[in-house]
Amino acid sequence: MPTEKVLHGHQKFKNSFDENKKLYLQLANQGQHPKVLWVGCSDSRVVPEFIVNADAGDLFVMRNIANIIPPSDAQDICTSSVLEYAVLELKVEHIVVCGHTGCGGITALVKGVPNDSKVSDWLKYAHKARASTNDNSSILETIKNNILMQAEHLLSFDFIRANKNNVKIHKWLYDMHSGNISFFDEKENCWTKINL
Ligand SMILES: [Zn+2]
Repeated sequence: MPTEKVLHGHQKFKNSFDENKKLYLQLANQGQHPKVLWVGCSDSRVVPEFIVNADAGDLFVMRNIANIIPPSDAQDICTSSVLEYAVLELKVEHIVVCGHTGCGGITALVKGVPNDSKVSDWLKYAHKARASTNDNSSILETIKNNILMQAEHLLSFDFIRANKNNVKIHKWLYDMHSGNISFFDEKENCWTKINL
């Protein structure tokens, strides 16, 4: 049985469902047409819909440990099917790869995890992102490298390369202490805070 908090939470949701019934019924009757595929970490503190204030129907979401996208030749059926459906069927216009400060997956990658664990198997797709340094900044550096590397993995899929003029790829970093999002600015080759 779920916790009290979950059950009460569902009751609150039901109240807001009734208040937003028009949107929910439109989505139920007409299907989903999200413009954004969000690739994020499974971390419970980094909730995509919260940090971009999204409504139901706005984001098609894939979350896993350390926001990893195994490259095409890894033949990971879970992630590749999400990408394929998002790009070819839903025709999303944006793919956001969003990592976050304090990522436990990346911290494990930097500090080491037992070799025989599933997490270790999964983190092999992020190995090349490991920072060259071994000081206090190495975890954040690896988190940033990993976002760039996973975004690069997107281009290993034929259907994404074939649609690269229709799909814009974004590399984002969420800061858990400030709530800010930074994006990787390709022209300046640096991370810049999103500032509207
Ligand atoms: Zn994480």
